[in-house]
Amino acid sequence: MPIHLDGATGEGGGQILRTGLALSLCTGRPLQITRIRAGRAKPGLMRQHLACVLAAQAISDATVTGATLGSQDLHVTPGPVRAGDHDFAVGTAGSCLLVLQTVLPPLMLADAPSRLRLQGGTHNPMAPPFHFLERCFAPLVRRTGVGLSLTLRRMGFYPAGGGEVEALIEPAIDGPQPFDLMERGAPIEAFAEAVSPGLPRSVSQRELAALARLLGWESEQLRELPCRQNEGPGNALMATLVHEHSTDLLIQLGERGQSAEAVASALARAVRAAQADEGAVGEHLADQWALPLALAVLNTGRAARYSVGTLTEHTRTNFGVIAQALPVCFDVVKTPSRHEVTVRPNDIAPA
Ligand code: ATP
Repeated sequence: MPIHLDGATGEGGGQILRTGLALSLCTGRPLQITRIRAGRAKPGLMRQHLACVLAAQAISDATVTGATLGSQDLHVTPGPVRAGDHDFAVGTAGSCLLVLQTVLPPLMLADAPSRLRLQGGTHNPMAPPFHFLERCFAPLVRRTGVGLSLTLRRMGFYPAGGGEVEALIEPAIDGPQPFDLMERGAPIEAFAEAVSPGLPRSVSQRELAALARLLGWESEQLRELPCRQNEGPGNALMATLVHEHSTDLLIQLGERGQSAEAVASALARAVRAAQADEGAVGEHLADQWALPLALAVLNTGRAARYSVGTLTEHTRTNFGVIAQALPVCFDVVKTPSRHEVTVRPNDIAPA
């Protein structure tokens, strides 16, 4: 039975497409998606979304119709998922990590390991930056028993792109195992990193100094990341908050015309909000964790829970899309300080 998705649901963004593609490949069911990205100013497939469709097609020898720029309707009939070596290039500065988000779920269920070379942007607005996937997302995937190691070969920023990431995926012998993540635990470490390839070093230095002043951080907590030749131009200021059971990473990308101090002050606000948050995962991890966890829950028939401070429309939309294609439910309980999510097979009654 095909999976029918309406791309205008909820936020109406690119996540519905990526989650839909992943679900189609994980289940072997055809995907029919209409009104792709209807909620966005320029609806339809943009280059980075098309790259996700083509990557899904490449790993499953899928028959695809509607895979053209601007297309709002797509039909995908996947074949069996093929693990192994794959190269995916977005072709622009669009995020190559959103391609990984699309193909990781089926490849983590495959019968052999995969090595992916992903090219495009690595630090983009509206996409998980490399460091977020490496420090926040990949450790959770590894806790399910799936091997996931990520290496940054080159950074890529808008508009030049040119970034490259290698991903090694090793499926778990008995499939992914679910686990509860209700508390992030005690704070272990907090640090900031700035990188500004192709720009004067003073940009990174001023950002770190301003951030340290705003947050009262010490010099040992500040790091200037080295740049490779011809990387950039681009600028990112990141803060990593390591807790016992989970890590959060906040990022602020510099833009032309914006002062280093303005970049630091926007990041400082995000760090304060994250520090005050009582969820075990942040708002972005909450939407990205939903599908890997649902697959682990289905693999074992055991329910699992996690908590998040702010449950975004984006996350709710993702829950809805997943529950449309997989026999799972997402039960959300709102408490005064956070949301508690239970993912359970839908033939098990709520606890
Ligand atoms: P569009 O809706 O224009 O198609 P898009 O394809 O980039 O945009 P979204 O639907 O906005 O897709 O999804 C973006 C993805 O990137 C989500 O999984 C979200 O959690 C993730 N993301 C966005 N910003 C961050 C961030 N700062 N840190 C980590 N992840 C992020």
